[in-house]
Amino acid sequence: MGNFFSLLHEQIQTSANRVFLEFGDRTSITYGEADRMSAQVANRLATFGLKPGDRVTVQVEKSPQVVILYLACLRSGLVFHPLNTAYTLHELEHFFEDAQPSLVVCRPSMAYEVRQLASRFDIEHVETLDENGNGSFWDQVSSQHDEFAVAERSPDDTALLIYTSGTTGKPKGAMITHHNLSSNILAIMEFWEWEANDVLLHVLPLFHVHGLCPALHCPIMGGSKILFQNRFSVSETINLLPHTSVLMAVPTVYTRLLSDNRLTTEVCQDIRIFLSGSAPLLPETAYEFERRTGHRIMERYGMSEGQMITSNPFRGDRLIGTVGLAFPDIKLRICDESGERLDHGEIGMLEIKGPNVFSGYWRNPTATEKAFRSDGYFITGDLGTIDENGYLSIVGRESDLIISAGLNIYPKEVEDLLNQITGVADSAVFAVPHPDLGEAVFATVVKEKNATVTSDDIISTIKEKLSSFKIPKKIEFVDDLPRNAMGKVEKKQLRIRHQTEFNSQAR
Ligand code: AMP
Repeated sequence: MGNFFSLLHEQIQTSANRVFLEFGDRTSITYGEADRMSAQVANRLATFGLKPGDRVTVQVEKSPQVVILYLACLRSGLVFHPLNTAYTLHELEHFFEDAQPSLVVCRPSMAYEVRQLASRFDIEHVETLDENGNGSFWDQVSSQHDEFAVAERSPDDTALLIYTSGTTGKPKGAMITHHNLSSNILAIMEFWEWEANDVLLHVLPLFHVHGLCPALHCPIMGGSKILFQNRFSVSETINLLPHTSVLMAVPTVYTRLLSDNRLTTEVCQDIRIFLSGSAPLLPETAYEFERRTGHRIMERYGMSEGQMITSNPFRGDRLIGTVGLAFPDIKLRICDESGERLDHGEIGMLEIKGPNVFSGYWRNPTATEKAFRSDGYFITGDLGTIDENGYLSIVGRESDLIISAGLNIYPKEVEDLLNQITGVADSAVFAVPHPDLGEAVFATVVKEKNATVTSDDIISTIKEKLSSFKIPKKIEFVDDLPRNAMGKVEKKQLRIRHQTEFNSQAR
């Protein structure tokens, strides 16, 4: 059976009496209850006449119900398409047009606007769900039958559609197959030596592969408990650490935990693994964390197109500044621009191949073709180097991608909007180091002659169209942008000029 849910289902049934999710004021759902609820939700999904392969777009706050909805989509063979709640209606347009979902589940507060937008794209069904599990979608769940046969799927069918932004043009939907999900989770479980008694503290969003895949699939496969936070909170995390054995987080979570005096060796006593990924972990954060807690963070590397790709080992050397070794069955190579393989220690483009690698970009054969070499290696866009022992270090990115608090921002999208504003002649958007966010969005803007536009005007204009995490933290005005002989903006110069811009900010 190619449906990834079958693999999860076996474990869910075996662990029926164990606690699956513990949340809020420590209410809990067992695996057996999750099994029945996911069947009820699958039956609810069936009331819309959805067929396997149809997309279900979900833009809602994180809640245990979203976890069940995800499992129900897998169970029904529907393609789960999660979206960050920060996306504005303007940004949603592209996702609706491109993904063509059959059902959209949105926040009740946005229902009116989302329905109007959906009708423009002939999307028939829009339902609501709030963070307490209320809304038109969920209201009709409890009356459904609590059995549902797992839908037949081929291993190469798409299970998840995760949009990643492109350096040019609009975000592209990475198609993640059932086989991608099953192979990756089996590799991770073995490599991290997952234990049934592990307790995972879930602080990550569910619209991103990190929070959705390893952070849900590992506990399910192990029959382990998840301490579930709807929203990351430093205090709640520190209170829960003594009851946790695994924390999967982004670097910003670690810098925020470090800023609290209650983070001590004692509260971390029962932790087995602190994992970090989705953005570079600064060595100073890793060293400081080790000094305060006695734990060396295990840094790993992944992306929407490849899920989890490398990790520092559970046993063996965890090398700070590296993202570790490839998971079993995943091949890595460092190449020059022409695709020629480089030696150990040389810096070049990281290319990957393996059962974890996505099947292509949704309805975008041109982008898919460009992303793969003829021998099947996927060109990640990340620059790295591999040492003699196979440890990978990510040293940069080929594109201008900004990663702020683990969320990706492509400058071009912000620049295009800035350049449309009356009074703005040109702009350059780039990343500068930030003590809390890792990287912050910075904009250098050239005004039109005699224009009076201010940074406040700019921010309030783009706020209507862009998610808040993409809004520049600072805007500077200059007469001209630095350009090279080819006329390309020298962002490196700008980055260096503003290197210490946010240094003085307290953590
Ligand atoms: P996403 O598709 O949103 O998961 O973003 C993937 C990108 O995040 C990768 O291509 C890398 O640029 C970056 N990334 C993920 N993990 C790490 C890491 N441990 N160190 C440096 N960059 C990372």
